[in-house]
Amino acid sequence: MPIYRAPVEDFRFLLHDVLELDKQRDLPGFADLSPDLVDDILSNAGKFCEEVLQPLNQSGDEEGCRFENGTVSTPKGFRRAYKAYCEAGWSGLGAPESVGGAGMPPILTMAVHEMGMSANQSLAMYPMLTAGAYGALLATGPDWMKQHIAPRMVSGEWAGTMALTEPGCGTDLKLMKTRAVEQPDGTYKMNGTKIFISGGDQDLTSNIIHMVIAKIPDENGQIHDDLSTVNFFMVPKFIVKEDGGVTVRNGVNTGGIEHKMGIKGQATCVLNFDDAIAWRLGPKPTPRSTPLGPGEKRSSSAGMAGMFGMMNAARLGVGIQGIGLGEVAYQNGYAYAHERRVGRALTGPMEPEKPADLEIVHPDVKRMLLQARASTEGLRALAAWTTLNISISRSSRPEAETAGLLEDLMTPVIKSFGTDMGFEAAN
Ligand SMILES: Cc1cc2nc3c(=O)[nH]c(=O)nc-3n(C[C@H](O)[C@H](O)[C@H](O)COP(=O)(O)OP(=O)(O)OC[C@H]3O[C@@H](n4cnc5c(N)ncnc54)[C@H](O)[C@@H]3O)c2cc1C
Repeated sequence: MPIYRAPVEDFRFLLHDVLELDKQRDLPGFADLSPDLVDDILSNAGKFCEEVLQPLNQSGDEEGCRFENGTVSTPKGFRRAYKAYCEAGWSGLGAPESVGGAGMPPILTMAVHEMGMSANQSLAMYPMLTAGAYGALLATGPDWMKQHIAPRMVSGEWAGTMALTEPGCGTDLKLMKTRAVEQPDGTYKMNGTKIFISGGDQDLTSNIIHMVIAKIPDENGQIHDDLSTVNFFMVPKFIVKEDGGVTVRNGVNTGGIEHKMGIKGQATCVLNFDDAIAWRLGPKPTPRSTPLGPGEKRSSSAGMAGMFGMMNAARLGVGIQGIGLGEVAYQNGYAYAHERRVGRALTGPMEPEKPADLEIVHPDVKRMLLQARASTEGLRALAAWTTLNISISRSSRPEAETAGLLEDLMTPVIKSFGTDMGFEAAN
């Protein structure tokens, strides 16, 4: 039976002794962050992950999500665990207090996120995507969305997704075909297909807020091959009015669940947008015919900026997924090497009365376990230091600008190295 013990002591050492959080109280969100509060958050999150999320990991993967009659069901136990997660306040840990969150800085949300990924990646991804989506909505949405939609995502009543990838494009987004056309009332009608959308549908929440990128026609009705007419949209599964009232089902339909090798309790979906009502986020695009000044970008790229804000959080989140998977793989490898008997130690039998020695006596097994542990601990420290730099970049400290550059530099490094090393540890 797979095991997981949240590395609370490792996190305490990192946050208190290495990064000295108590000396960072001037940073945004750190003022009330006493060592006791940090310890409480770490130990309660660890306990929740060990006791509520992890026991559903294997059964959730074996059962997987089901797609029947156009709707998705998550595995047994997921609904109860998700509700408990939200009721405990984990869904809004990093959200501003103004929308019902706890206002904790990214260094703490990162720690809780890693533990969730180790314990049950399928389940923990639903609120992770929602946090990315409400972050983007708060950064780019109008006041009525901040007032009526964001708080319901922060509480976990509603979930969010990030819908970029299409059948014809993943990395190269300028090839996207999804398009949205403005309506007389200022909303847009969206048509197209998105694939591989994490949490694209589920039975955990009563509504899903899709954050979608799509092309709009220019002032001559032309769709262009480049990114210049790409915009960022909010597309709810059930339509939300400006007063917060929820009306009818929108034209967003689930085409199916993608077939994956793992994380089968996570519904990675095909989404079809058929005349879906969409709200464009960010400033109105500048007509393409308007000449640009030196270094100036068209305002439609504000859509891309909103999307990249969400993507960067997701990139860091994916790197931390890798670290969390490296941790849990190491723990299970370590436990297995201490119960499995294989051959004899090179220096002669360690337990001659037994038919074979424990696997851990073999130098190469020790090397692999040490490598997994060292890379996980090192990457965790790098990710924590990067999230601290995110907070510094948003502060009035003189080094704020440099911290922002470090965040830009380290985010893709953590994404790729974190996942590579997590894969290596699990291998
Ligand atoms: C489990 C899972 C969940 C996902 N969730 C979401 C989601 O929630 N929302 C969403 O929008 N998408 C999601 N995706 C899709 C994912 O983001 C895409 O897979 C990704 O954008 C890559 O696109 P692609 O798979 O089409 O690969 P392609 O773009 O076809 O690329 C194929 C390969 O070429 C490499 N490559 C491409 N360009 C270059 C280059 N210039 N130099 C070197 N190598 C290059 C790529 O790294 C890749 O290995 C998910 C995917 C998975 C597997």
